[in-house]
Amino acid sequence: MYRFKRIAIKIGSNVLTGKDGMLDKERMASLVAQIAQLHHNGVEVILVSSGAVASGRGELHLDKKIDAVKSRQLFSAVGQVKLLNNYYELFSKHGISCGQVLTMKECFSTRRLYLNQKQCIEVMLENKVIPIVNENDTVAVTELMFTDNDELSGLIATMMDMEALIILSNIDGIYNGNPADEGTTVIREITAADKDLSKFIQTKKSSFGRGGMITKTNIARKVAKEGITVIIANGTRENILPDLLKPQSDVIHTTFTPSTKEISSVKKWIAHSDGYAKGSLVINEKAKAKLLSEEAVSLLPIGVVSVEGEFEKDDIVKIVTTEGESIGVGKVSCDSTKARTLAGNKGGRALIHYDYLYLE
Ligand code: GLU
Repeated sequence: MYRFKRIAIKIGSNVLTGKDGMLDKERMASLVAQIAQLHHNGVEVILVSSGAVASGRGELHLDKKIDAVKSRQLFSAVGQVKLLNNYYELFSKHGISCGQVLTMKECFSTRRLYLNQKQCIEVMLENKVIPIVNENDTVAVTELMFTDNDELSGLIATMMDMEALIILSNIDGIYNGNPADEGTTVIREITAADKDLSKFIQTKKSSFGRGGMITKTNIARKVAKEGITVIIANGTRENILPDLLKPQSDVIHTTFTPSTKEISSVKKWIAHSDGYAKGSLVINEKAKAKLLSEEAVSLLPIGVVSVEGEFEKDDIVKIVTTEGESIGVGKVSCDSTKARTLAGNKGGRALIHYDYLYLE
């Protein structure tokens, strides 16, 4: 009946809140009803929902001004309860249980936390509970934050091996120009071969969320490269979710077609770890050519010209060329002191084994 059986849906603050910044309960009720319809027809759904900060802001009226970090902590602490309370009530009406998963960047940076988190969401899905994921905005502040919930939804979709990720925003998709100009249309399909999209994308961000179209596109391409279909669509359109999931969907949206190349789960984890890289291995031209060939090769000491930064064994490091071009990331087999002594040597163990290597 539906073209996907296992999906992650990201709902942005701009879909969930009205012009006044308050939660739009009617919109929420409609989206929950749509998700319920999918759920009752056997589709497994993970919901990544923003709206905590926005709902907290609508709830509290502060007498004195507090700084941006503290107000985000305060609003999210109050707003997340309110948000989940609403979801709980709405899903209950459809006889569905939901549960809260709060996470942060840190939870994706060590394999153990990553697997714990994965297990939690999996057991929820197995027991027909809808996981509702958000960033723990009370403690994830400044550099500990995800870029936005688009990034988070990409991480969740990859971690949970979803078939599709649907990012709902308040516009119809990625436009081929300025949406205000006549003749501008939504790009219906973006493939891995479409290299530079930045010229089409509007940088204007939504008023209540953090994400913009550029981050959405970058995340979407990365996730599609890992074999997941990514759809960007308008969450304010009536019945959008069931319409998108119809075998021949005619509702306007942008699809990022997935790559068919199989990627192991360790590699997927590493792919999303570049934000946590502790240092870099600088490689020569020969090593670059080898790594970028179709062969499955590891990064050997001979290909490394220098080592930057300090890291421990099993940390994630970047692989860059002498020109500073980033090639990929990987889990390094020794610490930075040892890597420095090995760099340039013939023979010896790989500094990054193929299984722990992710090339961009
Ligand atoms: N986690 C934030 C919230 O729930 C939203 C972040 C975003 O808009 O991307 O309010």
